[in-house]
Amino acid sequence: MNGADPEMVVEGLVEMGPGGPRLIGSHCLGCGTLYFPQMPGCPNPDCHDKRLERTLLPDEGTLYSYTIQRYQPPPLFRMDDWAPYVLGLVDLGAGLRVMGMLSGIGENEVEIGMKLRLAVEPLYRDAERGDVCTYMFAAAGDRA
Ligand SMILES: [Zn+2]
Repeated sequence: MNGADPEMVVEGLVEMGPGGPRLIGSHCLGCGTLYFPQMPGCPNPDCHDKRLERTLLPDEGTLYSYTIQRYQPPPLFRMDDWAPYVLGLVDLGAGLRVMGMLSGIGENEVEIGMKLRLAVEPLYRDAERGDVCTYMFAAAGDRA
C-alpha cells in the first residue's frame, strides 16, 4: 500500500508516512499527556497550560488487554466477510493505550504482552469509494 492515502472509515486518525501508517494524537504542552484520538483541549484538571499540539504516535506497542468480538456489530459498523475478531487494547508507551482490531491474529494466537505494529487494512469495499480502511494492529514480526 504505497502512494495514495487509503480511504479511511474515519478521517483524521491516521497519517500515511514513508515508514508506514502512524496514528495522529495530541500532545499537551502543559502536562505532557498524550491523547488519541486528537483532543480539542487537555482534559486534565491539574493541567494549567492546555495547549495541545498534533503529534504522531509510536507505530509499535504491546498488547495490554483484549476482548473477542463474537457477535456481528449493527449495520452502522460495516464489515465485509465478518467473522469473530480480536479487539485489543494496545499500550503504545508514555501512558497511552489505544483500542483497535487485531489483524491476522486469531483468538488462539492472541497473547497479552505480544508486540504489535500499526497497520491499515480494508474493512469493506464500497461501490463509490473502493476499499474503505481502518487502522488495526498486526503482529510486529509479520511485516514483509
Ligand atoms: Zn495538559
